[in-house]
Amino acid sequence: MNNFDEITKVVQKNNNFLITSHINLDGDAIGSELALYFILKKLNKKPIILNQDRLPKIYNFLPDSDKVHYLEDNCIYPKSIDVGIVLDCSNIERIGRTYEIFKDIKTIINIDHHKSNENYGSLNYVDCSTSSVGEIIYELIKSIDTDLLDERISTCLFTAIITDTGSFRYSNVSSKTFEVASHLTSNGIKPYLIADNIYNKNTYAGLKLLGKSLLTLEVDGSNYFSWLTITRKMLNDTNAKDEEIEGIIDIATTLNNVEISILFRETKDNKIKVSFRSKGNFNVNKFAGKFKGGGHPNAAGCLCSGKLDEIKEKILSELLNDIKHLGCEN
Ligand code: AMP
Ligand code: MN
Ligand code: MN
Repeated sequence: MNNFDEITKVVQKNNNFLITSHINLDGDAIGSELALYFILKKLNKKPIILNQDRLPKIYNFLPDSDKVHYLEDNCIYPKSIDVGIVLDCSNIERIGRTYEIFKDIKTIINIDHHKSNENYGSLNYVDCSTSSVGEIIYELIKSIDTDLLDERISTCLFTAIITDTGSFRYSNVSSKTFEVASHLTSNGIKPYLIADNIYNKNTYAGLKLLGKSLLTLEVDGSNYFSWLTITRKMLNDTNAKDEEIEGIIDIATTLNNVEISILFRETKDNKIKVSFRSKGNFNVNKFAGKFKGGGHPNAAGCLCSGKLDEIKEKILSELLNDIKHLGCEN
């Protein structure tokens, strides 16, 4: 793995930067992108943020959120990009269709916290002991100059951290996470306002979808895992947007005694996206890997092609098999 000095040297030597992250943007992806964007601006560089997907509405409150471009908004970027920075992506395919642009960039900096990271960059900084990429960007900025951490940057990094830790509830939280959060808070940010923006902006349609989704809840015979299903019809009937699915699986995870929760959902492009969460030792990253997915030990996902019922059947029977094999049935 490369160190911060090596990354900073590449930053100093170059001018045009294109920053991206994974499809289905989350708070860590966006908060880290914007924090890095602000730092590069402060260093008199020319950064542009470009993702495949549009910024989910709940993140509009972030400073300069209009700088988070997506492929279809036709933002103008220079023909020749010196450095591409890929955040929060375990493999390069995770950036989706922006790969068409990134494949031609000579220098790629890969900054991530997924254990399954494939070190696809020219420079790679992967630390899976951190809660979020936001925590890594915080350290990177501190290694350059702590005074660079202003209120805007702190807001973005705090957002990255609280969204990737489920507001400090997940196993990826360490004393370091609280130290970073504490330092960010001392820079004038208001955690309750950030939390209000992220968690209290549900739409009527989004809550209706949550209701319908919870009605699909099923549990296996031994009460070890649960699953939810969201179809295109449910999204159409409620008028909810795809981005409003975010967070629904976390509610299923609150079910007492259930170790693993799964969400099967039909995507706009006729694929089945499966999300996995586990509360204990069952490694969902490994499990998702069986279906060409990945993530973290307690939160992972995969994207499958095929019919919803067939994929459900395949994944649930594989899980049942694994659990029997592990001898960890309740
Ligand atoms: P999600 O279920 O989409 O919220 O994702 C949970 C975690 O798994 C995140 O850290 C994602 O980056 C990761 N993840 C989700 N889908 C995939 C995939 N198809 N391949 C690799 N990692 C994934
Ligand atoms: Mn992410
Ligand atoms: Mn992350």
